[in-house]
Parts: sequence; structure tokens; C-alpha cells
Amino acid sequence: MKNKWHVHKFGGSSLSDAECFLRVTNLLHSQDGDRQIVVASAMGGMTNALEALVDSAEKNDKSITKEVGLIRDRYIAAVAQLIKQPEKKQSLLDLFQTDLTDLQDILNAVSLVGNAAKRSHDIILSFGELWSTRLLSSLLEQMIMKDDLNRSVRWIDARELIVVKHGELGPNILWDESSKRFSSFFKEISDGFVVIPGFIASDDQGLHTTLGRNGSDFSASIIGALVDSEDVTIWTDVSGVMSADPYRVPEAAVIGSLTYSEAMELAYFGAKVIHPQTMSPAVMNNIPIYIKNTFQPTDLGSKISEFSNPDRSIKGITTVEDVALINVEGAGMIGVPGTADRLFGALRDAGISVILISQASSEHSICFAVPGFMASKADSIVKKAFNIELKQNQIQKVEVRPECSIIAVVGDGMAGMPGIASRFFSTLANAGINVRAIAQGSSERNISAVIDSNVATRALRAAHAGFYLSTETISVGLIGPGNVGATLLEQMAPQTSNLKANFNLDFRVRGIATSTKMLLAERYIDLNSWQSLLESDWQELDMDLFVRHINADHLPHAVLVDCTASDEVSRNYIDWFDQGIHVVTANKKAQSGSLDYYDAVKHGRKANNSHFLYESSVGAGLPIIQTLRDLNETGDEIISIEGIFSGTLAYLFNVFDGSKPFSTIVKDARDAGYTEPDPRDDLSGVDVARKLIILARELGLRLELSDIHVENLVPDELRDVSIQEFLDALPNFDFEMSERYQKARDQSCVLRYTGSLDKKGRAQVKLQSLPADHSFAHINLTDNIVRFATGRYSDNPLVVQGPGAGPGVTAAGVFSDLLRLARYLGARG
Ligand code: ADP
Ligand code: ASP
Ligand code: MG
Repeated sequence: MKNKWHVHKFGGSSLSDAECFLRVTNLLHSQDGDRQIVVASAMGGMTNALEALVDSAEKNDKSITKEVGLIRDRYIAAVAQLIKQPEKKQSLLDLFQTDLTDLQDILNAVSLVGNAAKRSHDIILSFGELWSTRLLSSLLEQMIMKDDLNRSVRWIDARELIVVKHGELGPNILWDESSKRFSSFFKEISDGFVVIPGFIASDDQGLHTTLGRNGSDFSASIIGALVDSEDVTIWTDVSGVMSADPYRVPEAAVIGSLTYSEAMELAYFGAKVIHPQTMSPAVMNNIPIYIKNTFQPTDLGSKISEFSNPDRSIKGITTVEDVALINVEGAGMIGVPGTADRLFGALRDAGISVILISQASSEHSICFAVPGFMASKADSIVKKAFNIELKQNQIQKVEVRPECSIIAVVGDGMAGMPGIASRFFSTLANAGINVRAIAQGSSERNISAVIDSNVATRALRAAHAGFYLSTETISVGLIGPGNVGATLLEQMAPQTSNLKANFNLDFRVRGIATSTKMLLAERYIDLNSWQSLLESDWQELDMDLFVRHINADHLPHAVLVDCTASDEVSRNYIDWFDQGIHVVTANKKAQSGSLDYYDAVKHGRKANNSHFLYESSVGAGLPIIQTLRDLNETGDEIISIEGIFSGTLAYLFNVFDGSKPFSTIVKDARDAGYTEPDPRDDLSGVDVARKLIILARELGLRLELSDIHVENLVPDELRDVSIQEFLDALPNFDFEMSERYQKARDQSCVLRYTGSLDKKGRAQVKLQSLPADHSFAHINLTDNIVRFATGRYSDNPLVVQGPGAGPGVTAAGVFSDLLRLARYLGARG
């Protein structure tokens, strides 16, 4: 007994030019088996060009002649390049010329009437498939003759084989009639190549028709079912059905296997790679469908069949673009049976296809989505259908929201699997995307949401990463590549690939800004050479542009990392939150500024669901803020917080042992880079007071900087002079400091500059004399130490201690905040 036929379908994307035709014939030639059916679409873009001709004819546009000329030149060029034998070439061109004459005649008639009847429209569109398949068939013949293979090539017009009847849901196949025609045709053919145009068919009255745009996939599976083929392979320009449209989600991956229903659902919700109706003929005979790449034929591709690998609950994410959402609302609909029937009946009668329906359980409103171009028609149909109710105010409004998209997550495995919907919606929320309507099919194979079109790509990418179908991508902008910022980039450089591979996390530093310049990159900046790039590719700083660039629409999350100490930079936070951007900062200004501003920052963050992380603004990389939050959130009562919060002052008083004057220690420390350029910034105690304010506010204490009693170690006389004058005059005050030191020593104490805060909001910062056995007395160089006395840790307070200054540990604190942000946004790890 003969083996079964194989059906191959080539889309327009595989047939753009002469080179493509050669690729396809070679591919067919290399197939195993001597029974191959080839279904082909029109050359890429040809159907669109024909459609445009209809449009131009309806408008009686003069451009028609030019448009026809372009079509003619394109086809003749392909024939000339491919077909060597003069008679063959001539016969193809003669047929083409006859078609062009017919085409012109029909276009003339359309121009005269000003409107193309469906039938004329279909006939015009059919030419694309006729031309491409005739050429493909001739080319196959030529190849076979050259190789002297004893195989036949036959071309047959699909309109002689496939008969359909158009119904409300599209074309229905008249299987009996089509089957009869197939049997009689295939009676005489036992093997070889059979080339059949896709997309076109006859209707029940014997007239020419089409299966709708993208319909060649459907043709292939109809033919597969009619000949009971071994399989149907759809050859296209991607390596299979992918977890999302690869042009919109570059990280999309091929789905190895899908069930028919999964494929149908993905196709219905926008995965253009396969026409949604393709699956049903295949299901009838249980024929597997393969999706493969013409340009990379050895790639495995996708298999669509009865079963699929259930390794993932979600298979893919798609969007339907250009839809309008219509909301019908009114108390008069509550409990009134048949409202939905009337509504959808009216829409059906008007030929409007409803893509998605969502009804509130209160029955107070019904919301549905229709293709964008049908929006105004749907609006008037609904208003007409409920004319009386609208007049009587039983229905208050019919509202149309144009420019929407539907995003759908699809997978058989989500049925009965809790948490999928919540993950979907929290992922969208984390990406700052507003959901306008929600629907879940009763099969539980799909959850869809209507969102604004302008955020569709962002939503697609966020959801794709949210279900771990690709990495969680975060667009990062760094402001202030000074000591801390530069160290952060250095720390991130070797980690990015590890984070991607092991934690599904893709940090893309796409911008670096100094106070005057900025460096932007579309994808990401190579962190191993950012300095030289900043030298060579910089542009003048434009903060608005910088922020817009980081907050790119196509990336789901954006974070700005503030490594400056600038007030001016921190004043932008609210504006950034308003744009849905997250902020990670080592800068203390916003958290310790005026309460009004602090409140506004917190409010802005909350209102926009953004994250604001600033662990490194207190104790550098030490987990001080996080510890405080954990204690607080787990219900512990914070009684007091005390500590040494300045690495610089810790160092100065660790080194100060009476052997060297205090002023010399300050100067040496300044020369070694341990102090701010102006050491008074450290000695004044304001920096410590700011940290205390930040901690106080974490506890809900409403303190201003002025509420803290701060001992300023800068002598009064030296507060308003220049740095140099300050340094020169400081020795005049050594006496005072030596005296304090001696006094402390006489009592077996040491001097430590501390900050303290209690639950009543009493806060002070001062130089203290502490017993030599006090835990604050035994710290290393620039260590910070913080003691939390709490309800639970009362006798033996909780202590956090470690290096609290320096770019390395501060940058590490910022980096941990970035990772914490990624986890909040849904990254695993
Ligand atoms: P053909 O001309 O071969 O019929 P189409 O252009 O109709 O090809 O379909 C292939 C295209 O479908 C791909 O190039 C891709 O842009 C798009 N596409 C959309 N969603 C998906 C998806 N989930 N998987 C693969 N391709 C997709
Ligand atoms: N050529 C038709 C279209 O562009 C059919 C197809 O390609 O599947 O819609
Ligand atoms: Mg297609």
C-alpha cells in the first residue's frame, strides 16, 4: 500500500522573490516520500497590493496604472529570473497577461460603480495565489527535468476542489462535495507533486471566493483532511509557534508542542503565524500540524496535535490589536432577562463580530470588544437597539473606548491551576498597566484583558517575563557615576549574565547621566567599557529625554538609580513615580528633607504603585532599614535605636588616642579620602541627623531635621570660613578636644559620636563618653553599629555592625536594592 500524502504550505513570507522560490523548490525536492502536496500563498505582500488596487479603484484613483505596473514588473522579473525554457516562460507570461487584462476590466467596473462587490473583491485577490502557484509549479517541473527524476508535477486550481458555504462564523466547508471532487481528481494521480493555490475556493453557487485573509493555512489543513494526509507542515519565516510574537518580544521562544486547542486559542487571539480555523479539519482526522521555518529548515519547529508537553501551564501570550471596548451601563439591566441576548442579537444581525465579552456579576454593565473599524457602527447599533431604555434612563450610557488591545495568556495547563489570574494581573499592575476589562473563557484555557493600545508591547513583555517565558527585563538609568555609581557599575558588570542565567533577570543599564552629560543605549550599555563610551558617545544632559529613554514603552519596568547627593536630582522623584518609574537611591535628600516633601514622595510612590528603595542611605550596605522594617512589620515594639552612623566620625574617634592632635587626624583622614572634601560636612553632625530622621520616619515618627538636637563639632568661629581657613585654624581648637579625650580616659571611657532615637521621638546626635567595655567602643575603623532595643530584644538588643562607609559597601547596598526591586516585580530567585 502507498504511503500517505504529505501536505506542505508555504506562506507569502517564504515566497517574496526569485531566491525564495528557489529555496522552496529545493526544500520540497529534499523531502522524503513521493507524494507531496504543495499549497502556496501569493508572493509576500501581493494580496495587500491587490487589496490596495481595489481601494484605489473604488476611489477612482489615478494611481491604479502605476500600481498595476509594479505588480506586473515584480512578477515578470521573478519569472524571467527563474524559468529558463522559453516556451514555459512564454506560456506563464501569456496566462499572466490574460489575468492582467481581466484584472483591469474588473477594476474599471469597480471604478465606475465606486464600490467593489464582495465577489469582484474576491476575484481580484485570488490572482495572487494563481500567479505564485503557477510559477512554483513550473519551477518544480524545471528542477525535476534537470535532475531527470521521474516525478510528475501537477497544478490544480483549488476552486475546482474546495467548496464552501459562507456562514456567520466564516466559510463552512462542504465536505461531501469537496471530497467527491478530490476523489475524482486523485483517482488519476498516485504520486508526484501536486501544487494547489491556497486561500481560494468556490462557493455553493459555483462562484469564486476566498477563505479570508491568511486563509492559506486553512486551505492546507482542508486539503490534508480531504486526502487524509500523514501531516501538514506550515512553512513560514519563524521557527514555530512562539511564546509571543517575536517581533514584539525578542526573547520569545519556540513552543515545542501544543494541543490543537492551545494553537486555536493563540491564533484566535492574534498569533498570526497560523490561521485559527486551520486546526479544525486536522482535528477531525487527527492529523499533526508542524510549523517550520523555510529559512532554517533544520530547526525542530512546533508540533500541533492532540497532546502536548504539559511542562508549562502557560504556553504563550498574544495580543489582538486595534479593538474598541464598548461599555453598556444602566441600573435598568439588573435582573432583566434577555438583555444580553438583545444586545448581541442586534450586533450579530449587523454583522459585527464581538471578540470578547465581560459582564459584571451585578448585571449593571456589559462590556464587549469589537474590531476597531466596527466601533462606530456597533455604537449606533447598540443605541438603536436600546433606544427606549436610553430615553427612559434605564440604560445610562453606551460608551466607546477606541484604541484598545486585548492581551491573552493561553495554555491548557492553567485549567484548575490556582494563581494564574493573580499572577497575570499583578504582573500587569507591576508594569503600571491599567486593565479595562477582563474575560476568562469557560474552558479556562485563556485569560484575556483589555488594555490601552499604547502599552500593549509593554504588557506583552511584562506578562511574558511574569510567567517565566522570558527573563524579567528591567531598564536601568544610573544618575551620578561618581565613586558609588562607578563602583556599582563595576559590581554589576560581571553579574549580569549570571543573573540572567540563574535568576531569569535581565538588568539593562540603558543610560548613565552625569551633571552635564549623558550616555544612552537602545539595548544596553556594555558595563565593561562604559567609561570610554561616555567619553566618546556622550550627549549634553537633557534630564527629560534621559528619563523618557529609560522608561521605554517596550520594556516592562524602569528604574532610576540615584547615586548623587543632590537635592536637585531628588526633587524629581515624584515626577518619576508619576511616570511609573521605580527609584533606588543612595541619596538621603528626599527621605530626610522637609516632612511635606517626604509625604509627597511617599504619596507619589503609593499612588503609582512604584517602589522606592534607599537601604544604602543609612549604614551603606548594612541591612539597617530592612531590619527596622522587619521588626516593625512583625509587630515588635521599637523602644530605641542608638548607634554610630557615620563611618567618617567612627574612624576619627577610633584613631584619636591622644597621641596626635585631633586637627592632624582630620587632615590626614581628609588626605586619605575618608572625609567629605569639606570635613565640616561630617563634623557638623547633619549627615548623622539625616540618617536618624530616615529611621525615625520609618517608624512613623513625624520628625523634622530641626527636631533633632545635634552637637556640631565644628567650632562656631569656623563655620562660615573657607575650607582652607577652616583647616588652617582647626589646630587652635585642639585643646578642647584633647581635654574631652583626657576626661573620658580618666573615667575609663572612650569618645564616640552617636545618634539616638526613642519611641517618643526624642532624638539627639552628640559626642558621647562611653565606658571602654561598651559595644560601641569596640568597632573597627569605619564601622557603623546600630542597636535596636525592642519589646522582643529588650535585655539584649539586636545589633547590626559592619563597615558603614566607602564606595564598595555603599554600591553593594544599592545593588541589593535593585535585586529586591526585581523580586518585588516578580523575578524568581
Ligand atoms: P506567512 O506569510 O508564512 O503566512 P505570516 O506573516 O502570516 O507568515 O505569519 C508569520 C508571522 O507571524 C511571524 O513572522 C511573526 O511575526 C507573526 N507572529 C505573531 N505571533 C506569533 C507567535 N506567537 N509565534 C510565531 N509567530 C508569530
Ligand atoms: N495571500 C493571502 C493573504 O495574504 C492568504 C495567505 O497568505 O494565507 O491573506
Ligand atoms: Mg499567514
